[in-house]
Amino acid sequence: FVTGCDGGNINPETKAPMKVPKSETPAKDQITIGFSMDTLKEERWLKDRDLFKEEAEKLGAKVEIMEADGDDALQIVQAEELISKGVDVLVVVPFNAESTASIVNKAHIAGIKVISYDRLIKNADIDLYISFDNERVGELQAEAMTKLVPKGKYVYIGGAETDNNAHLFKKGVFNILKPFIESGDITVVFDQWTENWTPANAYANMEAALGANHNQIDAVIAANDATAGGAIKALELQGLKGKIPIAGQDAELAAAKRIVEGTQIMTVYKPIRSLAKTAAELAVKVAKGKKIETDRKVNNGKIEVPSVLLTPIAVDKLNIDETIIKDGFHSREEVYQ
Ligand code: BGC
Repeated sequence: FVTGCDGGNINPETKAPMKVPKSETPAKDQITIGFSMDTLKEERWLKDRDLFKEEAEKLGAKVEIMEADGDDALQIVQAEELISKGVDVLVVVPFNAESTASIVNKAHIAGIKVISYDRLIKNADIDLYISFDNERVGELQAEAMTKLVPKGKYVYIGGAETDNNAHLFKKGVFNILKPFIESGDITVVFDQWTENWTPANAYANMEAALGANHNQIDAVIAANDATAGGAIKALELQGLKGKIPIAGQDAELAAAKRIVEGTQIMTVYKPIRSLAKTAAELAVKVAKGKKIETDRKVNNGKIEVPSVLLTPIAVDKLNIDETIIKDGFHSREEVYQ
């Protein structure tokens, strides 16, 4: 083969450029992105993993993925492995907002930039943060709930305290509840974190809330659909499933079905492809040494982190078709079957 002026190979017989399979691209030209994920437990993270890989590959990059199964120490070890493999940029979904700062320091010593994906790494010089407007997520939940239940006893089932997002979701909820609480219309009778975001811990929280209030609860806001699912099991045990309205987040398939059947009033849809695509594009730019300008900055306790925050969408029975189904996040058949 002779080499064409674009550097590609030319077929001497047809003179047409030959397609060089991706695997033959010289490694040194290809950008490798390390993607360190906390967990794949919730349905959304599988989408994040697959879509991030897909979008990065579209841009010619390779992605090395590691998943820590909710283990703080393991995530740090895995990130070190990615750093020593010499990835060009590291994208991290931190399990623990604070302890993952050590990953950032190690990466920087090796000259590797770090992007915080969906969850913020705190107290570290991270280079970029790409997520949704997470405070808005909580506001959307509480806006929907207060419209339905403007007076009464509220329960808040929080996320994992170790996850910065859990604090933002809660802040958003209380931004909206505040005037109702001050006027005495709403009383928050239970408000607890859910360790590791597990449905089992959310179930225990809901059980405790019901027990302490003799089942006299008017509304439940759960930090995500997985914890909502756990809480609903506890409601079911008391014959209260579908009777006490509950809100969640993530637009998980199970939650979409519950919305249709009337056992969950709403969820918050975060278009994961947009997040994955934005993150892949910016990761490639960062790896190429380009400077990223963002409109927003988020303080992580150490620096003002250049940030991209995408918009979350409230989903209920009325707009489920024109949001998650229209986007192909879940198919109509899956949701309504
Ligand atoms: C994410 C949620 C997710 C939760 C549990 C949060 O940081 O923003 O979408 O449900 O973690 O994994």
